[in-house]
Amino acid sequence: MQIVTYPHYTLRYKSQPLKRVDAALRKLVAEMFDLMYEANGIGLAGNQVDLPLRLFVVNVAAEPGKGEELVFINPVLSHPKGNEEGEEGCLSLPGLSGSVVRAKQIHVQAYNLKGEEFNANLDGLFARVVQHENDHLDGVLFTDRMTTTGKLTIRESLEEFELEQQNLRDLGQLESDEAIAQRLDEWVQKYC
Ligand code: ZN
Repeated sequence: MQIVTYPHYTLRYKSQPLKRVDAALRKLVAEMFDLMYEANGIGLAGNQVDLPLRLFVVNVAAEPGKGEELVFINPVLSHPKGNEEGEEGCLSLPGLSGSVVRAKQIHVQAYNLKGEEFNANLDGLFARVVQHENDHLDGVLFTDRMTTTGKLTIRESLEEFELEQQNLRDLGQLESDEAIAQRLDEWVQKYC
């Protein structure tokens, strides 16, 4: 498992709700936490590890053994309140950051790995990371939510990422979008 970077096909995929959780999936989730900590992140979504499934992991402490490890399966966000501007980055856009307006407070309903439903009213950093990760499940990146002026300042960086992917593809080191789509389809048939 590895974190895929912009403009990887799976980052634009609208992930599908999970219908079952098995030992293999629990192992994948544990690997997601490991990858997230390695990259010093506080959240990581299925799409970012090439999985087309509606789940993401969060630990706002960014360190194993600290803070709380949370798994959100089939999350539903509702009741946004207020607006707050804040700086965001993304493990799929390494080195890039930008200002994004998010709801200040948000309600989340989701399931954990045991299949138990949980509900929470979030604010602060927690609210921001959950909105950021939930966007990933819909194929949305934080850069999509930046202002027009903000987007201009990162355009060159995005183009560099795009060139890099094209180079890998030209060298035959990256599979085709069709091949990725087929693989995602197999995941969906297994778990959704
Ligand atoms: Zn992200």
